[in-house]
Amino acid sequence: MRAFKAHLRGLAPYPYKREEAPVKLDQNESPFDLPEVLKEEALKRLRALPWNRYPEIHAETLRKRLAALLNWPEEGIVFAPGSNLLILALALAAEEVLDLSPSFPHYAHAAKVAGTPYRAVPLGEGFALPLEELLRAFRGGLLFLPNPHAPTGTLFPEEALRALAERAREVGGLLVVDEAYREFAGTDFSHLARENPHVALLRTFSKAFSLGGVRAGYLLGSPEVAAVVREVLPPFVLPAHTGAILEVILENPGYVEKVVGEVVAQRERVYRELLAHPTWRPYPSHTNFLLVRTPDAEEAFRHLLSQGVLVRRQDRYPGLEGCLRVTVGLKEEMDAFLRAAFGVAYA
Ligand code: PMP
Repeated sequence: MRAFKAHLRGLAPYPYKREEAPVKLDQNESPFDLPEVLKEEALKRLRALPWNRYPEIHAETLRKRLAALLNWPEEGIVFAPGSNLLILALALAAEEVLDLSPSFPHYAHAAKVAGTPYRAVPLGEGFALPLEELLRAFRGGLLFLPNPHAPTGTLFPEEALRALAERAREVGGLLVVDEAYREFAGTDFSHLARENPHVALLRTFSKAFSLGGVRAGYLLGSPEVAAVVREVLPPFVLPAHTGAILEVILENPGYVEKVVGEVVAQRERVYRELLAHPTWRPYPSHTNFLLVRTPDAEEAFRHLLSQGVLVRRQDRYPGLEGCLRVTVGLKEEMDAFLRAAFGVAYA
């Protein structure tokens, strides 16, 4: 086959394999479905939509609503079916992509697909942000920085982000702070982007908002950055049904507090209990997952699965040897995880 660009040959597929298990802790989803009343309201609006008509070209109504909620210029907002797609658009547009290693794997994958030059700087000791190395390596193009960080769960300090934002301005680059897990950390770095057109933020409805299946996220940035991303994406990219669901969510965001409260409580409990494990070591987390170091990830993964608990292996990433990632679920699910974790045969 000679139809495709040479750089796409041998592209590794996104590292996800579906497995069935009664306790599903492998995708950092919310364990709570959307409250029934909101589903009902969303369904009503879906029914009322003219399904034969295209949606608004750039989700204008939703952008207006979010702009008012966040006090953000409407022209600086881009909605998309998932922040993954915004990452791909940014990688396509970028002169160069700078990343951390390890980090959320879609940044590297998107850069590869886009054929955009790519470099990654290793995380420091204890998963610290390698600030000096990043400042040196950031010479333009775009830096993807998840904060809180995935897959470690670490929260990088604001001073470091400020320094990177200033560096972005200096070199004419763009710092993209991916805030996918921000609700679980209680953080908001939007002020960095308000002051500086060389900073943009990515946010998702897939985690704290319990809408993983709906596929929706948005970019907040300067009108100039948003215009580029909007034009790289196809027109009418946000489906009418997604827009209708998001309208309901933006009018009724109260449920998110309960999701976050319960997830954070379980996260802290499981972290504390795992500290007593003879061989596994949990890392502190500011997200809805815990990274856990085990003596043998393959064996630990298989053991948990044999007990009906599905988690995600992370041991193929540099520096994460032996690591598993455990999404924080319901209390009963975390009880099942802990029972299985403490029942490992080896020590
Ligand atoms: N950024 C990070 C850091 C993530 O972990 C994820 C989801 N796993 C995403 C972005 C993608 O989110 P979405 O569902 O909006 O595409």
